[in-house]
Amino acid sequence: VFSRLPIAIGVDIGAIETVLALSDLRGELQSVKRIRNTKNPEQTLASVAEEISSLVHSSTAYRELGGIGVSLIGLIDVEQGTIVEGENLGWPQPIEVGKLLRSKIKDVPLYFENGARLGAMGEIWFGGPHFSGIRDLVFVDINEGVGTGIMLNGQIYRGSQNGAGEFGHVCIDPNGPTCTCGSAGCLEVFASDLATVRRYIQRTRVSDDSAIDVKLIVELANKGDATAIEVLKETARYLGLGLAPIIYSLNPEVIVIGGKLASAWPLIEHEIRDSCAKRVSQPFLQSTKILPSTLRARASLMGAVALVLAKNFAVPEIF
Ligand SMILES: [Zn+2]
Repeated sequence: VFSRLPIAIGVDIGAIETVLALSDLRGELQSVKRIRNTKNPEQTLASVAEEISSLVHSSTAYRELGGIGVSLIGLIDVEQGTIVEGENLGWPQPIEVGKLLRSKIKDVPLYFENGARLGAMGEIWFGGPHFSGIRDLVFVDINEGVGTGIMLNGQIYRGSQNGAGEFGHVCIDPNGPTCTCGSAGCLEVFASDLATVRRYIQRTRVSDDSAIDVKLIVELANKGDATAIEVLKETARYLGLGLAPIIYSLNPEVIVIGGKLASAWPLIEHEIRDSCAKRVSQPFLQSTKILPSTLRARASLMGAVALVLAKNFAVPEIF
């Protein structure tokens, strides 16, 4: 019998907004709150801390709270909760998120992790039934950038300095445009939401492009808009190229495609596979399933909840 008591708080600090919620043991969310990020990180994080405190104290059984899991984008110092490098946030770096939140929230432990890694963890813990029991999974988080999170043998893989999984910065065209990382032709430059939106605006030459985002392009494509379909298929083909190094280096059981793009799955699935097949030999291609996220926009948030549960309830592995 599972308890319905809230036992964890998940916080997802994204590039544009922050989402917070209480969760029970089964990942049922309560009191979901959204805060629009501002240009000022201290101000934004102070509002986040206030919302966390109000969730902590609204919880009737707050002594039962196992902790607060916080999803951050970019290169993260997970112990300190510091964003060492995170170009897509538009905030001066490093950003000491942990220091700021811990100065205001003293009675509940805070845990930090990169959002793409938490997306991977979220899918395994709370995603579709076909993800349960998967040990080796890579989550490709497509948003303002392209992040990837790696779970190997059921554990988050961070690398030596928390930097593992930067497949968004693998070069797929040496003559391609400059990337935020300083290199050129990275997967991110071609397959991020920003790239998709940019291509759509170029093709349609709309006069007011302020309302155009990938959500809208997916909606238009699903209604049959030819330009929207073409632009999404193009993003999918670039993405397929970018999956080849993931398959060859890690040979995961599953690659999960997350982000708004995943809502166009019937339109893009074939394009992703087809373009990936041009770079990967058959036995490798057949050994890795490429599937859409089941948690969609909530993958990192659910991963933040899973992070708290793992700290409190998972049996430590004995080597
Ligand atoms: Zn790059």
